[in-house]
Amino acid sequence: MKEAIVLAGGLGTRLAHTVSDRQKVMAPAGGRPFLAYVLRDLKNKGFEKAVLAVSYKNEQIYEYFKDEYLGMKLIYSVEKEPLGTGGAIKQAFRYIENDYALVLNGDTYFDADTDALFSLFTDKNADIVLAAKKMPDCTRHSTIKTDSDGKIISFLEKKENKDGYINGGVYIIRKSVFDSFKNGRFSFEKEILEKAQDGLYALLSEGYFIDMGVPEAYFRANTEIPLLFGENIFKAAFLDRDGVICKEKHHLYKPEDFEFIDGAVQAIEELREKGYLIFVITNQAGVAKGLYTEEDVHTLHSFMLELIRDKTHIDGIYYCPYHEDGVIAEYKKYSPDRKPGDGMIKRAIEDSQKKGIIIDLESSILVGDKLSDIEAGKKAGIGKNILVRSGHKEDLDSHIPDIITDSLATLTDLI
Ligand SMILES: [Mg+2]
Repeated sequence: MKEAIVLAGGLGTRLAHTVSDRQKVMAPAGGRPFLAYVLRDLKNKGFEKAVLAVSYKNEQIYEYFKDEYLGMKLIYSVEKEPLGTGGAIKQAFRYIENDYALVLNGDTYFDADTDALFSLFTDKNADIVLAAKKMPDCTRHSTIKTDSDGKIISFLEKKENKDGYINGGVYIIRKSVFDSFKNGRFSFEKEILEKAQDGLYALLSEGYFIDMGVPEAYFRANTEIPLLFGENIFKAAFLDRDGVICKEKHHLYKPEDFEFIDGAVQAIEELREKGYLIFVITNQAGVAKGLYTEEDVHTLHSFMLELIRDKTHIDGIYYCPYHEDGVIAEYKKYSPDRKPGDGMIKRAIEDSQKKGIIIDLESSILVGDKLSDIEAGKKAGIGKNILVRSGHKEDLDSHIPDIITDSLATLTDLI
């Protein structure tokens, strides 16, 4: 029986090779917990049992996965106190029947060839084999040097700004390497890996690798991971900018005048966690009217994205600089992009298709503070078109919107 240990929990149980220790196994990718994909990958690779090394705070994980997932048996090895990576693996081995197991991080996905890892483990009669991932830039990682036989000669400190192989955090480990360690807290990397003399081998791999501990990668995983597993249908939230995300200020273009509406950033993150891709669609007729330039629009958007960089992610920003009553000749024209036209929504859909993503309009939403926003959403065929009262206060004798609510912050409970 193929058995795996997945480090999915407590503080310090993360195999160190990254910049952050944030627990991300339950962070969503495409609306599903990241760990679900890690487990599905194990199932696809023929594993029948996974021991999840979790902290005592494991309710969220247990409630989602219970004792079996996709027909794979799950056992929970609960850390009553932080055990470090070494202690966590040693404890989890109690539930392993073989005298070895695949060991991996629950918040990293590395498409390593586990069959090849097992072969190397057997052929060399190794104690530990690890899957090493080729990286174009190893500035943030320590690198691995091997001999021609695959045997690891050394771990080098992070400093080289060039390509190399890093520890991908996927191992086959022989249970007996823990024999001389007492139960309790210790580091697998420092106490075992870096001190190992013999029996330590690496399988060099160029497989897909993503680490949820790195914010940039965490946001990227949202689409990349589902796509990797053949899930290409996404829902999207199309958000107007002024009066929805930021406070309505007449012809806003200066970063110093930019102000988020209360709760908007948090609401965007909640939408993202519910599996929505986030697109901003905004009319910017001020360009046609000569009040500011397209460059000013870009500057403001870069400023906005910088403010939210570590908090949430926007998948695309579309703006329409045209207006029929403009004074700048090149922008003085009708454009199907200008809401109530649905051109910007269509462009977001087309750009997504180029990345292999299909937007399911029926389950998508649009949020605006004007009826022209709502009309654009209706025209495009978006399932729910929501009017918020946080910007321009529309006269509401119209029943066009599907939902009317105070702001983005009050919306997330309604959908
Ligand atoms: Mg608006």
